[in-house]
Amino acid sequence: MSSSPANPRNVESRLAPRFHQALVAMPRSPDESHTEDWAMALVADAVQWKASDIHLEPGTLETRIRLRVDGVLHDVAVVPNFSGHRMVAFFKTLCGIDATALARPEHGHGTMETGGILMEFRTTVAPTPDGEMVGMRLLNTKRPVLQLDGLGMAEMDQSRLRHWLDGRQGMLLVCGPVGSGKTSTLYSMLRELQSLPCSIVTVEDPVECNLDGITQIQVNAKRGLNFPEAIRAMLRLDPDYLLVGEIRDPESAHVAITAAGTGLTVLSTIHARDAVGAVTALRNNGVKDWEISAALGLCLAQRLVRRLCAQCRTRAPLTDEERRWFSENALEAHAMLWYGKGCDTCAGTGFDGRVGIFETWRLDADASKLILHGADAATLASHAKATGTRFLLADAVNKVRDGLTALSEIRFLGGLAS
Ligand SMILES: [Zn+2]
Repeated sequence: MSSSPANPRNVESRLAPRFHQALVAMPRSPDESHTEDWAMALVADAVQWKASDIHLEPGTLETRIRLRVDGVLHDVAVVPNFSGHRMVAFFKTLCGIDATALARPEHGHGTMETGGILMEFRTTVAPTPDGEMVGMRLLNTKRPVLQLDGLGMAEMDQSRLRHWLDGRQGMLLVCGPVGSGKTSTLYSMLRELQSLPCSIVTVEDPVECNLDGITQIQVNAKRGLNFPEAIRAMLRLDPDYLLVGEIRDPESAHVAITAAGTGLTVLSTIHARDAVGAVTALRNNGVKDWEISAALGLCLAQRLVRRLCAQCRTRAPLTDEERRWFSENALEAHAMLWYGKGCDTCAGTGFDGRVGIFETWRLDADASKLILHGADAATLASHAKATGTRFLLADAVNKVRDGLTALSEIRFLGGLAS
């Protein structure tokens, strides 16, 4: 086993400069205060690179430290377990988790101020044979909410959303997997509504960002406040708009759709692959076709992909494999493709931040009729296309062509309709 505090093999130390500096400055026999220095340095690095998560993963001899930046986990340091365990203990205490060895996973939360920013952690600690693994989600509830036109949405998709905001016709559902930026999009929409003389309430788990002039409530399952309970309570406040963080079970689906049926404007998110998939997801949660048909107004599907670093992006001819991807997806191959070489601005990753891929489906009278008569997803998709919806894959390919992202980032959308 190496006696050095950090083993730099296969790690992207450029993402954790302060942490590595703290390791180098470490005396031979570090004490508790050094552990705190390490932890603070790691959090400062995470904040600098806008990491969403910090992982401490113990192995047989060493603990791997990783940051999730723009959706991708990067190894940033490997330290001996002796040091790793101390850091685990530090973060457990910070997040109010029992300091003794855990028999089962525990959750906690805590805060730390770094560079004038108060970061909030939602932490899970799980016992493994090699020690306790820590996963910390970083929340900056004071971060600025992006404007609708800062999300990377094409003109047509933006205009569909604005049209919905003006007319408030039916429920709006944002569809996509975990971590696809659904909540950020909803916040951007609320930002547009903030200035209007209306009452807006939200029910969230957790409240990811504090918004002025909007009443936000956090679901708290431990205290018996679940989504349906919280929604019912907020409805008594007589709001004009209700944001439900997520439709995740039949009960929350029922309460949200009932609220929408009473004329209230409801915005929410649901796990679905694409826009028409929202209908299937609602059906799977026990919502009846006539209820969906009456309530649903607009579905927006989205993903987040990494944005190419503007400082080091460059173009190259396609490889045979890339050319094949285009033909397999019945798409015309571009002449050249953009990729990121890696530079100091992007810590060598070639990417800097993320950009959304979107698909908006505005439900017209015919779409509502189709749902009422039980139309399947394929039928709804062809109707959506016929009425001007541009699908996720098509939007993604446009963004590759424009050099906003790389083909490697959107390949996972292959197989979706274009
Ligand atoms: Zn770069």
